[in-house]
Amino acid sequence: MPKEKILIVEDEKDLVKLIRYNLEKEQFRVTAARDAETALKMARKSRPDLILLDIMLPKMDGLEFLKTIRPEIEAPIILLSAKRSEVDRILGLKLGADDYMVKPFSIGELQARISGHLRRHQGQTNGDGRKNVSVGGIDMDFERHEILVRGKPAHLAPKEFAILKLLIEANGKVLSRDRLLELIWGHEKDMEIDTRTVDQHIARLRRKLGAESERIMTVPNFGYQIKMR
Ligand code: CA
Repeated sequence: MPKEKILIVEDEKDLVKLIRYNLEKEQFRVTAARDAETALKMARKSRPDLILLDIMLPKMDGLEFLKTIRPEIEAPIILLSAKRSEVDRILGLKLGADDYMVKPFSIGELQARISGHLRRHQGQTNGDGRKNVSVGGIDMDFERHEILVRGKPAHLAPKEFAILKLLIEANGKVLSRDRLLELIWGHEKDMEIDTRTVDQHIARLRRKLGAESERIMTVPNFGYQIKMR
């Protein structure tokens, strides 16, 4: 049975050839576009299961493409870029990319990331009703609102629990403080609550996570992510 559809958006012909060859060997259905305008049409028409996206493209760049397509499709998007700049990486993640590979990367590593994202994405879209998750020494029961840290119960306030749940559901992806604020305080936002409120809750959450506190990582001036492994 043919596997998932992968769209490669990349203007370097040799790189496309190399990725295509390796993915087709693994039975993926591969399509490619050399510019973002063509890629937009292809993505809307063929609904790929995953997109590999170069940032430096002729005319419309990869980040612009990302901004346009993200609200339209849920497929995981992995950025490919020669740029090592942190700004690009953060901007890409902020715009909704799921991952980032810096060129030159190993094809093996790319394939591993692709499989990982497809697996997790399918888990989410099948709505497999995952109620218990373990991340390192943290065990969470979403339904019963319980959490064990290295086997011992931790007592999280509802918002602390919600933050941890969102970070785990984001699967290592960075969540901005603004996004957390919106998702958790959305309707009760007022003058008293701002991104510092998020920082304060994270600080309390870290204290309660004790030996596992370092799993919650700060992305300076932007937000937070959780180390999944
Ligand atoms: Ca390029």
